[in-house]
Amino acid sequence: MVQFDNSYARLPERFYTKIAPEEVPAPEMVLFNAELAAQLGASDWDASVFAGNVIPDGADPLAQVYAGHQFGGWSPRLGDGRAVLLGEAVTEHGRFDIHLKGAGRTPYSRNGDGRAWIGPVLREFIVSEFMHAAGVPTTRALAAVRTGARVQRERALPGAILTRVAASHIRVGTFQYFTAQEDVEAVSVLADHVRARHFPEAKGTLGLYEAILAAQARLIAKWMGLGFVHGVMNTDNMAVSGETIDYGPCAFIDGYSPKAVYSSIDRQGRYAYEQQPSIAHWNLAQLGSCLVPLMEVELGSQAQAIDALSEVLNRFPMLYQAEWRRVFGAKIGLADAAEDDVPLVQDLLALMAQDGADFTNVFRGLSDGTARDWLLDREAFDRWSERWEARRSADFAAHMARANPAVIPRTHRIEQAIEASLAGDDSLALRLVRVLSTPFDLAEADRDLIQPPAEDEVVAQTFCGT
Ligand code: AMP
Ligand code: MG
Ligand code: MG
Repeated sequence: MVQFDNSYARLPERFYTKIAPEEVPAPEMVLFNAELAAQLGASDWDASVFAGNVIPDGADPLAQVYAGHQFGGWSPRLGDGRAVLLGEAVTEHGRFDIHLKGAGRTPYSRNGDGRAWIGPVLREFIVSEFMHAAGVPTTRALAAVRTGARVQRERALPGAILTRVAASHIRVGTFQYFTAQEDVEAVSVLADHVRARHFPEAKGTLGLYEAILAAQARLIAKWMGLGFVHGVMNTDNMAVSGETIDYGPCAFIDGYSPKAVYSSIDRQGRYAYEQQPSIAHWNLAQLGSCLVPLMEVELGSQAQAIDALSEVLNRFPMLYQAEWRRVFGAKIGLADAAEDDVPLVQDLLALMAQDGADFTNVFRGLSDGTARDWLLDREAFDRWSERWEARRSADFAAHMARANPAVIPRTHRIEQAIEASLAGDDSLALRLVRVLSTPFDLAEADRDLIQPPAEDEVVAQTFCGT
């Protein structure tokens, strides 16, 4: 049994709209995460629950309101336009939101239909479960169901719902919504809620801000370490818990380029791979401005409040650099990467960029001697390798073992899985979920999944395709 305790539903009514999922005709399970279900006490939930047709005892469904900067442009009222929060499960591992994405229209749907189709649902399931297995804070996937209804996109496609599990769904944009309403009372209630839920040790508003910044610095560094490009780092897609959220047109880099950008809607490359740390910084600045009135109460003047918050915000690049050093240091087997090790990492990345070498396979290949095979300028790699051997310690392999996955969810494989599902065969999606659940240990039989896309398999652009 899921033990529900719905703390968000107890917040003031202006934080949400209570609303049940819309009924669907024929729920059918596609993917089910039995291990996560057991942790939540949801082992007995079936497709009718995951489709929103049956509301479990203790749930109190609602759609959350938020705002956000989308590609830099301000949207004063977004919110769960096609999702409902069923409630919060209290477990021995903590409190988790259980959320149905694709569950129908809500007051925040604007012109949308409130639905999702099977493609993005499978993508989010596969990628978020991989991220979890790779040690990246993330929302998780509990189930993917087909609804039995069609969803109209460029063509009619099978409707689907993803059951998402998260530490919370509170976004930078949730703060922004109340700030834009000049509702300081609500900002204060929200900050208290976030502190109690995610950062109980944080002292004062400044301590809370610091904790949120530190969590983002860790998160973005981990994304960078996997070659992950989120694709839509709008402020409404940044969870203050520090979990990756809202997987849309995201992708992992195959051939390395720091400028990699895949999303068809990101024409300016605002959310390109190398931009992600500075975008996180920008988003966190927006959060900081929401906290000014709370800080002002604590410090007595607005000028002091802004100074104090800015000082914390200005430390973000340094915090991020330290996390980046830790992540990339481990990727080349250094337990204690220092400032002077940065050029060693940068020089390898520069070589990879010059050759468009496969990001995942080069790093993984440092463990088994195959890195060289993925580069074109092998003499340059050999010179780099000599410097690396001189620097690394005896136990370098141990440090790399959990830093460099053998296998990642490559975009072309995800697309193949989606195409197969559209043709009635979910086996490739199931296989990807299974293999990617242990990305550091790859069975011989699954080695085909390490291959970068062949020329005719390359997916040049990814789509929101909501
Ligand atoms: P996203 O960029 O997918 O995170 O969504 C941005 C906003 O659009 C959020 O408020 C979503 O709830 C909303 N939205 C996205 N797709 C739909 C849809 N099909 N129907 C209604 N609202 C949607
Ligand atoms: Mg309300
Ligand atoms: Mg979103």
